[in-house]
Amino acid sequence: MKVLVIGSGGREHAIAYKLNQSSKVDKIYAIPGNPGIAKIGECISGNVEDNEMIVNFAKEHKIDLTVIGPEVPLCNGLANDLEAAGLMAFGPTKRAATLEGSKAFSKDFMIRHNIPTAKYKEVNSYDEAIEAINEFDYPLVIKADGLAAGKGVVIVDNLEDATATLKEMMIDGSLDGAGSKVVLEEFLTGFECSLLCFTDGETIVPMVSAKDHKQIFDGNIGPNTGGMGTVSPNPFMPEGMDDVIKTDILDPFMQGVKDDNMDYRGVVFIGLMIEDGKAKVLEFNVRFGDPETQSIMLRLDSDLYDIMVGCATKTLKDVKVKWNDHHVACLVLSSGGYPGNYQKGIEIKNIDDCDDCVIFHAGTAIKDNKLVTSGGRVLNICATGASLDEVREKVYTVAKKIDFEGKYYRSDIGLR
Ligand code: ATP
Repeated sequence: MKVLVIGSGGREHAIAYKLNQSSKVDKIYAIPGNPGIAKIGECISGNVEDNEMIVNFAKEHKIDLTVIGPEVPLCNGLANDLEAAGLMAFGPTKRAATLEGSKAFSKDFMIRHNIPTAKYKEVNSYDEAIEAINEFDYPLVIKADGLAAGKGVVIVDNLEDATATLKEMMIDGSLDGAGSKVVLEEFLTGFECSLLCFTDGETIVPMVSAKDHKQIFDGNIGPNTGGMGTVSPNPFMPEGMDDVIKTDILDPFMQGVKDDNMDYRGVVFIGLMIEDGKAKVLEFNVRFGDPETQSIMLRLDSDLYDIMVGCATKTLKDVKVKWNDHHVACLVLSSGGYPGNYQKGIEIKNIDDCDDCVIFHAGTAIKDNKLVTSGGRVLNICATGASLDEVREKVYTVAKKIDFEGKYYRSDIGLR
């Protein structure tokens, strides 16, 4: 079978790596892919937002399954366009992807289907926002409705900061239109975690847990990033939450998808806040998380191609999804300065012979036959072992060895 992976990050490399282990997969293509994926498949340069080009490529190359990694092509309806051309896609259609693409749509879905979430109000103008603000206490969560690449959520402590944030989003247009509509939301306290699930729109299958580390500095200090590392299992997941999450969240989510006739075939990533044995939903993302996926894929014992086809053909209930008991760590090496400004094009050395670790590429490129940095998050060093200590030791040994100017990583992945 021929598979096409859309995207270029560590997440897409981990997906391609796992698909490459399937006896059914003969050839992997990626648009645009990265130098890591290029070692196991063929990378085709192209824009992930160009649906027409992707559909034409898939038709011409007789692709059996297209796996859509990032949220933007999902929200652009790439799954719909592939389907319309008679091609099989892994990833929800445009309306289902709106669960991530519009926070107001997502909150409305949660309320209508009795999924526990924070109290909220949708506002469509600055004046409306200022009026509604009195209904909330501080801290207050202000969320731009549309996709904002992780920059759309601001937590404010007082009226002055709230009005300044709302002005920036709603009047100054700081988020390119993503903030013309805003969700005001009650601030929730508790333990934050996420859960990824496979779904075909009828059956939902949770994946193993993973803990991510969002902030740039040790001790969860500094600005948020795309994610600086993960461990699986999540060592801090409160005991006994599986049944609560199934009953309170997964079951009503699945029922909501059916009741609303959403064509949801792919992954749902559920951001949760847990307190006093209860879970509330912070957000739905409609795709694999990055870098959660890098850890989770190394714990999957079943054939990823079978699972993805099960989702795409609505036969997930017939597919066995088996996980191993290993511990996994994924450590992100980033460019100096990230998540602010950073240099690109710096040569990466000593990346071969990284015994015991799997390296997933993210922001890398080939220039003059050399591997160089090309993004903020550059590489993901992943290791599997019998304990958290063992996998931490493995990834940090390799992190010291791989060399590029400005290399940065957190030293506390997997620790509290
Ligand atoms: P973007 O649209 O910019 O990509 P996002 O999808 O990352 O944003 P969320 O995940 O909804 O946005 O929120 C980002 C973070 O803000 C969460 O991980 C959480 O830490 C915090 N947060 C969001 N909502 C709440 C809330 N109601 N109470 C407390 N913290 C919250």
